[in-house]
Amino acid sequence: MNNEKAFHLLRNPLLNKGSGFTAEERQAESLEGLLPTSVETLETRVGRASAQCDACPDDLARYVYLAHLQDVDETLYFALLISQPDKYMPLVYTPTVGDACLKFGNIFRSTRGLYLNLDMKGRIESVLRNWGETDVRFIVVTDGSRILGLGDLGANGMGIPIGKLALYSAAAGVPPQFTLPIMLDVGTDTQEYIDDPYYLGAKQARPDNDTYYEFLDEFTEAVQKVFPGCCVQFEDFNIHHAEPLLEKYHDKFCMFNDDIQGTAAVATAGIYTACRAKGENMSNQRILFLGAGSAGCGIGDLMAQAMQSEGLDKETAYSQIRLFDINGLLTKSRADSLEPFQRPFAADHEPTKDFVGMIRSFKPTAIIGVSTVHGAFNEDVMKAMCEVNDRPIIFPYSNPTSHSECTAEEAYAGTNGKVLFASGSPFPELEVNGNKIEPSQGNNVYIFPAMGLAVYATKAKRVTEPMFLTAAKALAETLTDEELNSGLLYPPRDRIREVSAHVAAKVAENIFDENLASVDRPSDVSAFIKEHTYVPSYAPHEA
Ligand code: NAD
Repeated sequence: MNNEKAFHLLRNPLLNKGSGFTAEERQAESLEGLLPTSVETLETRVGRASAQCDACPDDLARYVYLAHLQDVDETLYFALLISQPDKYMPLVYTPTVGDACLKFGNIFRSTRGLYLNLDMKGRIESVLRNWGETDVRFIVVTDGSRILGLGDLGANGMGIPIGKLALYSAAAGVPPQFTLPIMLDVGTDTQEYIDDPYYLGAKQARPDNDTYYEFLDEFTEAVQKVFPGCCVQFEDFNIHHAEPLLEKYHDKFCMFNDDIQGTAAVATAGIYTACRAKGENMSNQRILFLGAGSAGCGIGDLMAQAMQSEGLDKETAYSQIRLFDINGLLTKSRADSLEPFQRPFAADHEPTKDFVGMIRSFKPTAIIGVSTVHGAFNEDVMKAMCEVNDRPIIFPYSNPTSHSECTAEEAYAGTNGKVLFASGSPFPELEVNGNKIEPSQGNNVYIFPAMGLAVYATKAKRVTEPMFLTAAKALAETLTDEELNSGLLYPPRDRIREVSAHVAAKVAENIFDENLASVDRPSDVSAFIKEHTYVPSYAPHEA
């Protein structure tokens, strides 16, 4: 091959501009004749891609189309995503990514990211070096053990790190060239995949805990050696590993878990905006959870911190938060059977499974559903919440929609339109007392991309809980009074880049305040964040 440079340009998605290469570039890079004659702008190419995507028969086909675009021309891919975030984010991430993961072996066309399996034990450092790029700043990693609400999907879960990193770049502007999706392909306990001829992962059962944690230790140490200063976001790990890994690593290197910490921040932001709507403080709220897993306890911990930041002592803050799991209220009498992360919430209360009774006695201002139990917030629950509140806060956060504790319609109808509502899954617009209401969705996308941008720009050494509290407060600030009055608790997603810029700037300030940055503090942090924000463009390549 004697025109390698030209073929490299056309085949490298970070450099390729397709018909966007100018006449000068075509001449200089020996591209003449290799492209159709017309030189097109990025806008024209976005228009064509948008029409091609629309013409796909269904959302999974659109997902496959967009993945192909990402493999061919990342500038075009991100320009398309940013042109209509509200339309494209659900196609490259939830809900479509769930279907894509289930069918990963069938829709697979070309590889992206790194796959590490147990045969590489002892050699992970050298395998990481195969990536070729040394300046990796952001990794999203999963072991596929708890993909969304779909269970153990093994290596099929790779769609999650890929999709999540796309949102880091599209929703906040983390430059895609510094990102790396990783699948820890340690096996799967889902026999269906092991038997599937198209399954692409290791066809073996998951290892015992000792082998697993040794592998994770080797991986995290190797990442720090090969990509010093890189932040690692853990995603969709089974709860039995997610919490211990977060506990073990959070103060050893730059890492976080979005399922736990990102969820906590977005839900806390929703309570802040609900407080704004009611003219109340966070420290006056009493929160009752249905569900005490990673999401429930993560949210509860951050809300306790939010209350403490308004002057409550720790014990009082935790006493204003109660959680139910499948066995009822978390109580001191159950302490021995509770996970360590659940124990701070154990109440001095007799055991009870009566959620409605608890609403009447505890008088929560908010109920949050993270139980995956569809229909759990029924008419009795709504009625009890209305008895103890003028404006009840009701957040059915379980995903997908089929697991939501109630629908938006049920919450508005059951509270006579008084509810302050946000859900985990999207619900369609509805009419309440003659007004059109767009139900709010507490999507983690309001938090993690902005967190990533702040960490990337400041080269943060750690990701801390105060950074998530800062992000929650900053997100709540972005909602305009007009949006709040229209019933929204989160800003519309078509404002996501602007919202992320504000959240990232506030988090960056916190990183500088806490001396966690590896760069000097700039005089204008917002401008500094803007300078670091990726904007897709066909500007001339740097030599
Ligand atoms: P998990 O499996 O760790 O926890 C589920 C909890 O629900 C457990 O404590 C379980 O005991 C409890 N539960 C189950 N059945 C119950 C019942 N009948 N009554 C009371 N409690 C019951 O799961 P998780 O990671 O905490 O996620 C929970 C839900 O939250 C999922 O649907 C997930 O999709 C959703 N979630 C939403 C967001 C978001 O929208 N931003 C983010 C994270 C998680």
